Amino acid sequence: MPRPFNFSAGPAVLPEEVLQTAAADMLDWHGSGMSVMEMSHRGAEFISIYEKAERDLRALLAVPANYQILFMQGGGIGENAIVPLNISRGGVADFVLTGSWTEKSFKEAGKYATAHVAATAKASGFTEIPDPASWSLSKDAVYLHICSNETIHGIEYQTLPDLKALGSSADLVIDCSSHIASRPIDWSKVALAFAGAQKNLGPSGLTIVIVREDLIGHTLDICPSAFNYELVAKNQSMYNTPPTWGIYVAGLVFDWVLRQQEGGLTGLAAVEARNIRKAKKLYDYLDSSSFYSNKVAATARSRMNVPFFLADESRNADFLSGAKARGLLQLKGHKSVGGMRASIYNAMPEAGVDALIAYLREFEKTAA
Ligand code: PMP
Repeated sequence: MPRPFNFSAGPAVLPEEVLQTAAADMLDWHGSGMSVMEMSHRGAEFISIYEKAERDLRALLAVPANYQILFMQGGGIGENAIVPLNISRGGVADFVLTGSWTEKSFKEAGKYATAHVAATAKASGFTEIPDPASWSLSKDAVYLHICSNETIHGIEYQTLPDLKALGSSADLVIDCSSHIASRPIDWSKVALAFAGAQKNLGPSGLTIVIVREDLIGHTLDICPSAFNYELVAKNQSMYNTPPTWGIYVAGLVFDWVLRQQEGGLTGLAAVEARNIRKAKKLYDYLDSSSFYSNKVAATARSRMNVPFFLADESRNADFLSGAKARGLLQLKGHKSVGGMRASIYNAMPEAGVDALIAYLREFEKTAA
């Protein structure tokens, strides 16, 4: 029996091959006689898993040598505090509000830094990204925080802002939780990127932080030691016990991404090409139909999270039960937005998007 297609926003679908490898390794990883969950994080076996994961992620995202990759805990919400605790020096941080996640980040940062709204898309109902030329940037901001993919509102930066070109000396921080490893990151613009693993990388419980080295070492005294980037970096992410299972599964996912092939492309380029095609198909169908709608500005639409609405909202429950009966799971929209949301992360096969479109078409006919 094929598995159903799972459109959850996160924790989310993982490549079936990765789940099978993890299952096969469960009781005995590579003849060690141990599950990865049972290994010391300081033993040779786990160190080899950790080193390969770090190496593969660095290769996958072309992370420059002067950036540290940290495997932490606390999730995206944790980083909303951990980032200002580590890099704000108690100064000013600018925020561009494009949805729920940046609103949360802004509120949390205000506990540790002077948080300032440089721009907000609230008036549009978070359906667009304010034009960077219109942002009111603080002269003295240490950093500017954006969410490069707003999971709930389905908004994605197609190009990251170039703060230098905008006349700001602030460092750019991106919350890329819901699209990490779906497209390249332009490190010439980004000083710090963080992401919870549970969308594109693996199980919840692991948080990836990729940070330029000169931002490390300015942590506020009140920062808990386990969240101090300097201590985490000096101890190869093993100042406290790292989320070993998450690192192992994410490592399998990195390896999977690196091996992907698509029309002459390999690795991240192949995955990105597939993501572009999957998203285009789905948006094209939604746009062509008068029964469904997506309200996000065409230039800001997310390739990963596609919120949409039925013209007749009284049929939402029918739509969801019909979807479930056809093996199309977890399509209900976030409660703050309503409607539906299809999350089509890296591991969502193109056949899943095709099956969703076929069901959209079928359901629309019954509604006519
Ligand atoms: N940022 C973004 C963009 C997210 O999508 C999420 C989770 N949905 C978070 C932050 C929060 O992550 P966590 O629940 O792991 O703290």
